[in-house]
Amino acid sequence: RPLPIGDEVRNDFPILSRTVYDRPLVYLDNAATTQKPLCVLDAMRDEYLNVNANVHRGVHYLSQKATDLHEAARERVRSFINARSTNEIVFTRGTTESINLVVSSFCDEFMTEGDEVILSVMEHHSNIVPWQLQAARKGIAIRVIPMNDRGELLVDEFEHLFTDRTRIVSVAHVSNVLGTVNDVDEIVRISHQHGVPVMIDGAQSTPHFKVDVQSMDCDFFVFSGHKMYGPTGVGVLYGKEEWLDRLPPYQGGGEMIESVSFDKTVFAHLPFKFEAGTPDYVATHGLAKAIDYMEEIGLDRISAHERELTRYCMERLRNIDGMRLFGESEGKDAVVSFLVGDIHHLDLGTLLDRLGIAVRTGHHCAEPLMQRLGIQGTVRASFALYNTKEEIDILADGITRVSRMF
Ligand code: PMP
Repeated sequence: RPLPIGDEVRNDFPILSRTVYDRPLVYLDNAATTQKPLCVLDAMRDEYLNVNANVHRGVHYLSQKATDLHEAARERVRSFINARSTNEIVFTRGTTESINLVVSSFCDEFMTEGDEVILSVMEHHSNIVPWQLQAARKGIAIRVIPMNDRGELLVDEFEHLFTDRTRIVSVAHVSNVLGTVNDVDEIVRISHQHGVPVMIDGAQSTPHFKVDVQSMDCDFFVFSGHKMYGPTGVGVLYGKEEWLDRLPPYQGGGEMIESVSFDKTVFAHLPFKFEAGTPDYVATHGLAKAIDYMEEIGLDRISAHERELTRYCMERLRNIDGMRLFGESEGKDAVVSFLVGDIHHLDLGTLLDRLGIAVRTGHHCAEPLMQRLGIQGTVRASFALYNTKEEIDILADGITRVSRMF
């Protein structure tokens, strides 16, 4: 049943009809986290009410039911990104934990002092700081793909960053500040030509368009549930089985072992080797429902709707006096970052908030990108499937009104 998009889906998200400061809420902070549809909330409540038991360990009825839901969610995620096998789907707490897992295990096994990782200038801190921790611990080196002023990575320069010490490339699929959709197919192709594996940070792509990890051919792909209508506290690490098999475990504990004695522990097979401790099995079920919800509407329709909102927003904002837009790449996705005149981003964001408009301000966990742009921060509006052109009109009018106060 294809659902309509925009206005009609708003009833699925009761929070969208609330007011803030006696004004209708205009929620444009979706790149930080999306709102959750009733079907996700109901499914999670139902699991706590009727099923709740710890997974994998129990012989009893409820534990088996909870395990079934948890493992069905793994299959749901597998089909969502078209992985070959559920062995390749590791549940984590989110993108950040997925990246830390790969960085830590990969560096342990495959990197020594002087080895290099290639990142891009538009990475989120979560794809910078874990590498820096390893730089401090092991002396690995970080090389950075630059971008042009439209916010597009320079693929030619990327090619020149490879040396015989390059061990891995790790790049965002979509920038959380610029909305640039990076040409990850090309990045993977070039990296593989050099015999180097690639991790793609999909935190800002999975909410917006169909991802196929097999056709992309990346070696690792990571994302968060909460940015795609699912609950907080659950994320995914996809890894090609041949890579996950070769990586050592990240955390030790229950669930990730086959057998333990004080002399020797045999680790569990994939994906459990990377899932120490009780997983958030209710959240994984919620994530599966969020995927159902997105697929019921249709990823293509979501994508087309959000691209149109993005185009419309750029057009409306461009006409405002003193407007500076950041990120002008072709096919940019669902994120619009801007500054107006010399108004501080925090002042602009705070005054928009008083009009009921929720935007984000600051460096967006991408300080190196701010340095590249020569600014301290931006105001960022970011879209989801439930946003409407009327909301963008309210944003544009709000910005005009606020900027007249300065
Ligand atoms: N990478 C990108 C591109 C992001 O936008 C974010 C979230 N802002 C993250 C990583 C981190 O995601 P999380 O906080 O859910 O771990």
